[in-house]
Amino acid sequence: MIYLIFVIGLMLGSFMGVIVKRLEKPKTIIAKPSHCEFCQRNLKPIDLIPLVSFAVNLGKCRYCHKKIGWFYPAVELNVALALAINYQVVFARTQNIWAVIFSSIIVFCLVLAIWTDIKYMVIPDTVTSCILASALVLFFTFNFNFNQFLGAIIGSGFLAIMALAGRGKWMGWGDVKIMLGIGLWLGYPLIISQLLVSFMLGGFISALLLAFKIKKIKDIIPFGPFLIIATLIIYWLNFSIIKLWF
Ligand SMILES: [Zn+2]
Repeated sequence: MIYLIFVIGLMLGSFMGVIVKRLEKPKTIIAKPSHCEFCQRNLKPIDLIPLVSFAVNLGKCRYCHKKIGWFYPAVELNVALALAINYQVVFARTQNIWAVIFSSIIVFCLVLAIWTDIKYMVIPDTVTSCILASALVLFFTFNFNFNQFLGAIIGSGFLAIMALAGRGKWMGWGDVKIMLGIGLWLGYPLIISQLLVSFMLGGFISALLLAFKIKKIKDIIPFGPFLIIATLIIYWLNFSIIKLWF
């Protein structure tokens, strides 16, 4: 089963790569079949097998031999691994296929938000709404209790305060919106660990980026990816810092 999930994940990842790339030129989403960015030649199904086509052609376009870059295989692998881990964890925890399906939708949207935030500094509202909708389904079917609700309030409330205090410079409203769904999904007390881990990750990675001069001090580093990576770590590990203390 886990291998099947991984293969499905690769295909969904290849689909995600296309969505993210085409956000650059929104009108081409439906208009054009998959094609090479350089020679514009349409790609055949054999050129579109996730990871395999990339490996066989040594990362080059089969027609014009230009380098394709690591973006597509990275997204494919990323989605496949995330969905495989999520299946393993959630199925062991709940023994319920619906819990697996809805948490997988959330995981897919979270990974998508990481890539759009890194590439274009936006988290599309459709992605945020999809996370919130799936979190609501899980809330009403599996974990209907006040702590889940509290998670949403604490998570989005805390970031809203930061967004207001920094006038949108430290924290964007996209981050506040995505935390509604994340908070409802994780609930209290996991949300506290998530916030701590995301700020630690954010500080550490930003310091590295500055130290290696990849980013300058005035550059804006999107915070969404840290929020999301912290969310996945905390959700999968089910790790509560609060429980360690009390
Ligand atoms: Zn080409």
